[in-house]
Amino acid sequence: MFTSINPFTQETIAVYTAHTPQETEQKLELGYRAYRQQLQIPLTQRREWMMQIAESLRKDVDEHAALITSEMGKPLRESRAEVLKCATTAEYYAENIESMLAPRPIKSDAYKSYVSYEPKGIILAIMPWNFPYWQVFRFAIPNILAGNTGLLKHASNVSGCALAIEKLFMESGFPEGSFQSLLVSSKDLEPVFADSRVQGVTLTGSTPAGRSVAALAGKYIKKTVLELGGSDPFIVLKDADLEAAAKTAVQGRMQNAGQSCIAAKRWIVEKEVAPAFTAEVKRIIEGLKQGDPTDEATNIGPMARLDLAEELASQLQASISEGAEVLVGGYHEGCNFAPTLLRNVTVSTTAFKEETFGPIAVIVEADNEDAAIALANETNFGLGAALWTSDLDKAARLAKQIESGNVFINAMVRSDARLPFGGIKESGYGRELSLEGTHEFLNIKTVYIQ
Ligand code: NAP
Repeated sequence: MFTSINPFTQETIAVYTAHTPQETEQKLELGYRAYRQQLQIPLTQRREWMMQIAESLRKDVDEHAALITSEMGKPLRESRAEVLKCATTAEYYAENIESMLAPRPIKSDAYKSYVSYEPKGIILAIMPWNFPYWQVFRFAIPNILAGNTGLLKHASNVSGCALAIEKLFMESGFPEGSFQSLLVSSKDLEPVFADSRVQGVTLTGSTPAGRSVAALAGKYIKKTVLELGGSDPFIVLKDADLEAAAKTAVQGRMQNAGQSCIAAKRWIVEKEVAPAFTAEVKRIIEGLKQGDPTDEATNIGPMARLDLAEELASQLQASISEGAEVLVGGYHEGCNFAPTLLRNVTVSTTAFKEETFGPIAVIVEADNEDAAIALANETNFGLGAALWTSDLDKAARLAKQIESGNVFINAMVRSDARLPFGGIKESGYGRELSLEGTHEFLNIKTVYIQ
């Protein structure tokens, strides 16, 4: 059984029955048949179906947004933006996929040689609840356009979203089985990894989940893409636009109640501007309105599950006992975790060392820009990083020194349909989106004609 609980009201929304091994087998067979069928379907047709999905998402945006908000608690405004981002991405790939899949000619001693990008079969996608539509579509859009089929094992608390996405694909015209949701527990996934119809596994989730998934995929020689946790630095140098930096830092940390892999989790500020930056972020955080996510005025909704809020509270308590000072917030009631600002944080404070997946921001002072970069890299993670400075030459030089998969200068780190996204170090490997992401689960086939 999978139970969806509204995190704000704590009411049970729905209970879903887990799929049996027989149902799983049927889905694998359907997914494989859809893959074989898609091989005969021209790309122009798949592009039309993808445009149909975009249209449905736009038409029913309020319905989809309400489902997201009810299952995981983000403010309706943010849910609507998430659904529309999926629609825009579907349109972007429908328009641009052809050139990404075009064969690449290479001169050799053959009469003709080229690389052909071809689908491989079913890709198992294990996804998290924090962006329950976006994370799924980010994988599904390029892959299904390229001819693979998707089997989604969504997080256990967002089964309603999983089934709604499956329905969108079913109704768009794609062959039955092109995208399916599998309601099974993560401990029952081994037979799916082992199945030869499954040709790849993509996980977006925590680093511990990444270790298990990579180990199991290794056992069955399945290609993986791992989009894992992060503890992104947000570096503010003394020549930065402080007002814009402060506003973006708060948005980057507090949106989605802080439950984002690329949230600005560690604010590293050059000491000369630390007092002014601190005062400004404190003022903005104190003005955030927390409460009912269906209220349009709410900035911060509840965290998605009680156990997650409790885990965050224990990281907060550990940080305080290690010497961190609470400037704002510092408490929670059920899933409602007050937006919290900590200072007197060092590299050995829990909230600096570990990923905090909720609305806690920490400020660390750096003596100079080199010290700021060293602090930024003082982590096992390497997902994103933001760097704020008015000197763009310096920014480009420092960006090269930052150990992460994405660096955003004077902007908030985000995943953009057009740009590759992914991490290094314990934030994972492989990429999603753009040319690099689209090719991850394709057979990069060399063809040599004498
Ligand atoms: P999680 O507990 O790792 O769960 C993510 C997904 O993995 C869920 O579907 C979960 O299923 C499944 N899962 C968990 N353990 C597994 C295992 N041993 N084998 C196979 N599947 C397993 O993560 P979460 O709490 O939902 O999400 C938060 C984490 O995701 C954070 O660390 C965040 O930084 C990361 N994240 C990364 C990105 C990125 O793009 N890099 C994006 C978003 C989130 P159940 O729900 O059934 O346990």
